[in-house]
Amino acid sequence: MSFHIAVDLGGTQIRAGLYPTGTLQPEKLERIPTHSAGEMPLARLLDLITTIYPTNDQLLGIGVSAPGPLDPFSGTILTAPNVKGFTNLPLRQIIEEHFGVPVAVGNDANLAALAEWKYGAGQGFHNLIYMTISTGIGAGVILGDRLVLGERGLATELGHVTVLPDGPLCPCGQYGHLEAVAAGPAIARWTEAQIISGEASCLPAGQPLTAKLVGEAANTGDQLAIRALEHAGHWIGLALANYLHIFNPAAIVLGGGVTRSGEYLLGPLRQALKKYALSEYYLDGLTLATATLGDEVGLTGALILARELDAASYSQKPIDTTKTL
Ligand SMILES: [Zn+2]
Repeated sequence: MSFHIAVDLGGTQIRAGLYPTGTLQPEKLERIPTHSAGEMPLARLLDLITTIYPTNDQLLGIGVSAPGPLDPFSGTILTAPNVKGFTNLPLRQIIEEHFGVPVAVGNDANLAALAEWKYGAGQGFHNLIYMTISTGIGAGVILGDRLVLGERGLATELGHVTVLPDGPLCPCGQYGHLEAVAAGPAIARWTEAQIISGEASCLPAGQPLTAKLVGEAANTGDQLAIRALEHAGHWIGLALANYLHIFNPAAIVLGGGVTRSGEYLLGPLRQALKKYALSEYYLDGLTLATATLGDEVGLTGALILARELDAASYSQKPIDTTKTL
């Protein structure tokens, strides 16, 4: 029997699954916290892979979904502020040398886009924008059935486009990026600021909020919470209207926890798409869908990378995402 291993590396946990060829159901699935006193995340990652490594069977390859920015061609993590020791780290080379099998490393949002396109809400589309809105805003773009990577694999950072030049500081260090005005922490901070300035709300004053709390307050009819989500939806819609002009997709798939706010976010987002689109031709037949794979999206994306992207020659040739499972 032959297998692939998929690894989903995040700032809080590492998950790894052992997948028999021809199925999306893992035979083994393990998760551990990314950080632990006295042990570096890289050692923990290698240990986790070892615990599910198949005995007396053939392992064909390992796919890793990792936070960016990273170089997917060499499998090198450039910086990952939420993972200790992951700066200029040749992750692909280290895992290959450790286990002796082909390894490929991809940007987590890019791989989530692949997963939703192949097995989720994006199935059947040839041109698609995927955007995930949670703690940050990540994205992946499929054009002509291929994942857009760019010269160094750093393309389609759609959350780090400037929408408000004098706006709030983005975690990346720049100001006024979409992520800084519309990701979960931005929604929470905006709401906190309005409460401090005297706006009425059922949310507590002087306490740190989360986008989840704001979403729950909106569901009870809290007008400030509803406005906070409208505000974020507007900026996301404005940015997406610009991306329609650049990529001309058939579908936009939205993932991440913030999209669970539903119509409070999506209604203003649609309005902004219509308001800022260059012409109705960009909107004719455009599908706007929410992601369907949930928490499994990272592992599924890493599995696709391991299985379909020809891990052994990933650095030498363009990605062919058209192969079937
Ligand atoms: Zn940014």
